[in-house]
Amino acid sequence: MTEVKYIFVTGGVTSSLGKGIISSSLAKLLQARGYSVTIQKLDPYINVDPGTLNPYEHGECFVTCDGAETDLDLGHYERFLDVPTSQANNVTTGRVYQSVINKERKGDYLGKTVQVIPHITDEIKRRIKLVGSGGKYEIVITEIGGTVGDIESLPYIEAVRQLRWEQGQHNCIVIHLTLVPFLRASGELKTKPTQHSVKMLLEEGIQPDVLVLRTEHSLTEDVRKKVALFCNVEPGAVVESIDVSTIYEVPLRMQEELLDVTVLRKLGLPSGHEPVLDEWKEFLHKLKNPAHSVKIALVGKYVELADAYKSISEAFVHAGAANNASVDLTFIHSEEIEEGNYTEKLTGYDCIVVAPGFGSRGIEGKILTAKYARINDIPFLGICLGLQCAVIEFARNVLGLEGAHSTEINPKARNPVIDLMEEQKSVTEKGGTMRLGSYKCEVLHGSEAWKCYRKEEITERHRHRYEFNSKYLEEFRNAGMIPCGTNPESGLVEIMEIPSNRWFVGVQFHPEYSSTVLRPHPLFAGFVKACIKTDNKI
Ligand code: GLN
Repeated sequence: MTEVKYIFVTGGVTSSLGKGIISSSLAKLLQARGYSVTIQKLDPYINVDPGTLNPYEHGECFVTCDGAETDLDLGHYERFLDVPTSQANNVTTGRVYQSVINKERKGDYLGKTVQVIPHITDEIKRRIKLVGSGGKYEIVITEIGGTVGDIESLPYIEAVRQLRWEQGQHNCIVIHLTLVPFLRASGELKTKPTQHSVKMLLEEGIQPDVLVLRTEHSLTEDVRKKVALFCNVEPGAVVESIDVSTIYEVPLRMQEELLDVTVLRKLGLPSGHEPVLDEWKEFLHKLKNPAHSVKIALVGKYVELADAYKSISEAFVHAGAANNASVDLTFIHSEEIEEGNYTEKLTGYDCIVVAPGFGSRGIEGKILTAKYARINDIPFLGICLGLQCAVIEFARNVLGLEGAHSTEINPKARNPVIDLMEEQKSVTEKGGTMRLGSYKCEVLHGSEAWKCYRKEEITERHRHRYEFNSKYLEEFRNAGMIPCGTNPESGLVEIMEIPSNRWFVGVQFHPEYSSTVLRPHPLFAGFVKACIKTDNKI
């Protein structure tokens, strides 16, 4: 078995510099040169996973096929690489401590004092090695969340230092991403924050091999030389990461900067053939040269933070390019949609999406949105809670079922058209206990969903506790809202459609998680296609 090589990506100066995008872009280039690569994220918070976090905290919770609730960066990894990730790709401090404490209780360390070094750092190293251990990957890129110097990321940095010492520098390199701010008053790019950040990393025992400098303006040769000299890296290993109009451009910028070549040389690996990026470039070409435009309203309650709907927004970028259309996505707060203003708020869009979500805040706005789409025959996509709202609306306004609701919002609803799943009734703990991960779904031949997927059996990822109440199935079917997708084992309804409308589809699963640059999700692609008006040329 070939030896696995490790690349660590750390960040300095500020957060939100785009470590996830740099990691994904580097991985893409290495993959395009023929290497098998995976990316892992180490998160410094104490939650065991981000499933219990409000999206306002860290953005959306991304769900893997194996049902792990993970950081949204894993979404970028999958969208760039087109390779699924799993639970092993996301480790949190909470998870690390949980395993160490469980082992302590079992008596695995009997007689010993359990400490950050070596016990916590050993567990971190074990989890880093675990992703590369199955022989599937030649290179593992591990992104370390947070910023160097934070108290909470110290054990991770120490684990990297140890791993590097154990494996040798040529098997284990560190890329440090920092910010080079531009001072408008003096018209200069400033390197001091980078120097300080590298100094801090050195204090923690790590000399970075490569520096990626995030900047608004192109770096001069002088700036590069200065950073190289003061930070003790070779001049060729100072890489510019300039702001670009789309994240999907970053791999090409990194290629121009020879990041992949430098990394492979430092790892003692042959560069092989030039990166094969034809399809990627074709996607970018379509993205930048649309022939149509589509205006989509996305109604949700976390709209103040665009990251809360990251996978949905990106799925629309992929689906737009696939249709030669630019997608103009407007976020509308569901709490602002009311009986008196919903027509006014929702007029002017080619189509409407009701987003996933939890709890009662803004729910009536989402239900009104579904009503607006249904009665005005506007193409509609309801995702998870979005489907549930469309069902509630139909029950109330078409079937005339008084008090129709989801028992998540009203446990005593007179007509519980959305109800807690049987398997959920005994659940008491909140963390990791939803219906999570991939499940099969049988799609009704000829339905809109089928026209998108072109197959009868699909697999999609889930994250929910409530579900369509099949006691009402016949009533819905007779009135024209049809179950078009069901789970073959449990019979749970996964897709509902109104065939008399132009395009009205609600799905209990999350198609957005599996859309990638090279494989836009069929449902999003079909939805965008349905939204393009023939006269809507750019
Ligand atoms: N809150 C709903 C449920 O638990 C929908 C979840 C979601 O939209 N992800 O079923």
